[in-house]
Amino acid sequence: MTTAQPSAVVGRSGSPQIREILDRARGGARLGEADALALIECSADELPALLAAAGTMRDRAKGRVVTYSRKVFLPVTNLCRDRCTYCTFRKDAGDPGAWTMAPAEIAQWSRRGRALGCREALICLGDKPELAFKEYRETLARLGARSTIEYVARACEIALGEGLLPHTNAGIMTRDEMVMLRPLNVSMGLMLENVANRLRGRGQVHQWAPDKDPVVRLRMIAEAGEARVPFTTGILLGIGETPAERAQSLLAIRDLHERYGHIQEVIIQNFRAKPEIAMAGAPEPDAMEMARAIAAARLVLGPQMNVQAPPNLSPNEIEMFLAAGINDWGGISPLSKDYVNPEAPWPHLERLAERCARAGFELRERLAIYPEYVDDYWIDPKLRPALARHGAEIDGGAS
Ligand code: SF4
Repeated sequence: MTTAQPSAVVGRSGSPQIREILDRARGGARLGEADALALIECSADELPALLAAAGTMRDRAKGRVVTYSRKVFLPVTNLCRDRCTYCTFRKDAGDPGAWTMAPAEIAQWSRRGRALGCREALICLGDKPELAFKEYRETLARLGARSTIEYVARACEIALGEGLLPHTNAGIMTRDEMVMLRPLNVSMGLMLENVANRLRGRGQVHQWAPDKDPVVRLRMIAEAGEARVPFTTGILLGIGETPAERAQSLLAIRDLHERYGHIQEVIIQNFRAKPEIAMAGAPEPDAMEMARAIAAARLVLGPQMNVQAPPNLSPNEIEMFLAAGINDWGGISPLSKDYVNPEAPWPHLERLAERCARAGFELRERLAIYPEYVDDYWIDPKLRPALARHGAEIDGGAS
């Protein structure tokens, strides 16, 4: 992890510093942490130039196409050993609403999703509940699984059998667990959220979340690269991080991608307040903060990176996020709600397409793996038939 640079380089209204950073980015320079911080902190006067530079960089590699993945969300279990103060998803065993999906439910939801045209099974769950809850260990034993990840493998097999392409986000996994899941997943994910260990301190959002140790998260993302897993990660804005920590997080993701080439998309996600969470009264990042972070991500990560923002968390900012350099909206479900932000409905696809079109963009469906990763290096041969059924053939080699 890099360390914060002095913020004296930060430009203010019309300052040469921001213009100079944007000129260097346009020329293909690799931006540093002080550059990223200056972009993230730019003034309202400087924002149009920042957005224009980021949008132009996106257009160079991605054109005017913005993608989404039609998914069904399978919350295999909402039990979690962590207690992030912004989370409304997690439950303790015995809580009202605590839920571990039975195999029949996984199959039924997958079938319904496939019937509605979904291609992705987003398998998303709490972190290591078996370490915290005896009742859950008994559930796993009844289900014939020795660990949550072993049960996740079964969920992936069921979803694959129903014609979906799994993408698993199961929190922290070991290298062996990722290797086990690789033949069953076209991609996997883990939000970095932020590199600041400070957020695990007393009174901070991750005080009671042992799996939010950034060292452990960075290590898992690196191991995913070593295991040749196409990977989704991202940062979470509004959880008490400083602008410098946002910049450091973007650079940490870039460093990992430069080492392994496996980061297929980077999500810039905003915290949303909800009445039932400990952070109910905390301020949400505003549209300008999000736009600055998205544009900075685009300029730091380069034209080839897929940069994503969830449309249901900022329904009024569709046009601004497009202007700021995104080229993807992530998963959108016609069937299941966003279990992590249940108050935020998915946009209607036709209306989203209309808004994108009015802004000059074509909305296009993609798979849970981006086309640039559909090859023998990134994909386990066992997934070839499933991918072929969705029109993604791998050139060369036997299946
Ligand atoms: S955000 Fe994830 S790790 Fe944190 S409590 Fe919620 S489910 Fe658990």
